[in-house]
Amino acid sequence: MNLFETIRSRIASPARTFIIKADGTTLSYGDMLDRTAQLANALVLAGVEPGDRVAVQVEKSVENFLLYLATLRVGAVYLPLNTAYTLAELDYFIGDAEPKLVVCDPAKRDGLAEIARKRGASVETLDARGQGSLIDAAAKAPKDFADVPREDDDLAAILYTSGTTGRSKGAMLTHRNLSSNAQTLVDYWRFTDKDVLLHALPIYHTHGLFVAGNTIMFAGGAMIFLSKFDADEVMRYLPKATSMMGVPTFYTRLLKHPGLTREACAHMRLFTSGSAPLLAETHDEFRAKTGHAILERYGMTETNMNTSNPYDGDRIAGTVGFPLPGVDVRIADADSGKALPQGEIGVIEVRGPNVFPGYWRMPDKTKAEFRADGFFITGDVGKIDERGYVHIVGRAKDLIITGGFNVYPKEVESEIDALPGVVESAVIGCPHPDFGEGVTAVVVLKKDAIADEKAIIAELEGRLAKFKLPKRVIFVDDLPRNTMGKVQKNVLREQNAKLYS
Ligand code: AMP
Repeated sequence: MNLFETIRSRIASPARTFIIKADGTTLSYGDMLDRTAQLANALVLAGVEPGDRVAVQVEKSVENFLLYLATLRVGAVYLPLNTAYTLAELDYFIGDAEPKLVVCDPAKRDGLAEIARKRGASVETLDARGQGSLIDAAAKAPKDFADVPREDDDLAAILYTSGTTGRSKGAMLTHRNLSSNAQTLVDYWRFTDKDVLLHALPIYHTHGLFVAGNTIMFAGGAMIFLSKFDADEVMRYLPKATSMMGVPTFYTRLLKHPGLTREACAHMRLFTSGSAPLLAETHDEFRAKTGHAILERYGMTETNMNTSNPYDGDRIAGTVGFPLPGVDVRIADADSGKALPQGEIGVIEVRGPNVFPGYWRMPDKTKAEFRADGFFITGDVGKIDERGYVHIVGRAKDLIITGGFNVYPKEVESEIDALPGVVESAVIGCPHPDFGEGVTAVVVLKKDAIADEKAIIAELEGRLAKFKLPKRVIFVDDLPRNTMGKVQKNVLREQNAKLYS
């Protein structure tokens, strides 16, 4: 069934608030139906047919979110692109996805026109204020549209993965993938039509678009829709919201805000975190200041959400909680794919209605990342503890092999992070003439702490086996992160490639 049919079925009344904009103006669910119908008509006029891709590289705006919904109504495939991508990168995405229509910022129109023409796509514009040629066309279009029926396995979206190694891959997501996960999250996180979700995430990524957007619409609730995360603005809106989904950096920034108190969060019932690991220290500080235990969950573009800390019960910092209902999670041996005994570290594999059917036009890559029994090999390494909580210890490709021994970066990072004077750390393997890889710690210190490489290594000596000890400690002001808050270890590896040569 078309995901939009479920969204429509959850509208208690057209008069209910759907979106509250930063300027205080609102959009009702009835307005949403009208405007997505107009946009759907504009898409059809632009030649978009069911199954066609609609590639969208524009700033976050209400209109951009409505365009996602209109694409669903047309039965087409929404393809959001990170606003940071350059024209050269767009050439690859457009060549690979072959969209019928490209929607871009007016500033990119000229550059994109040639790329689009080569691929037979047309171009429309939409700017950060929600204006452009697509909106002009929609304004003239009727406010009714007969939604195109879709089967569960039809594609609703393609999201390109961040591609820190090799070519970026288009993860295909079906109506079933998105619907099943949204419903699971509504139930697990107890969303209702009374909820007001503070939305400050980008919408070119699974977190902001699906986890936040679909979940609140499946609940029939409202969103406070902010164009980006700004701590002052978020603090202003917290008293009007009931829930916020964030990446760890949202929380570290809020903790620096003098206004963050128990009273400021009195109206909130839920804060969630994901997309990157939340430091236990952040979790603890946030709880001490606000009384809220941030609920950490784990998912990825290809699988939607896999695990979550419980709504009731202990939300344990440093873990990503339990497998969500309907999602099978196992820890397997990376080579053989055999399930490992409880407590052992291995690759995390998942299966369920949330898991994507494969990468766009990459059958070999898809085959390589699924087991014969349908489990998807996430590439994350982790374990399940005796209480059933899943722990992530890193990405398989971040595993360090030094002198033949495996070192999981997270274990070393946790010890370093616990030292006085340390804010955070990233542990990487750098080419080493004797050991193959040398364990290397990149450390951010608190303001007045003294950078003393020898002292840090000495502190770790009693806590970690010798082969796990960093051979070098590099001090930096900040760790490089992408917009979702993920530490870019590939950048650190490049910067330190010659450290031991
Ligand atoms: P993306 O496809 O951009 O959402 O990235 C997915 C990856 O983010 C996962 O495979 C994990 O490596 C990482 N990730 C997501 N949530 C968490 C979390 N709560 N803790 C640690 N890593 C996470």
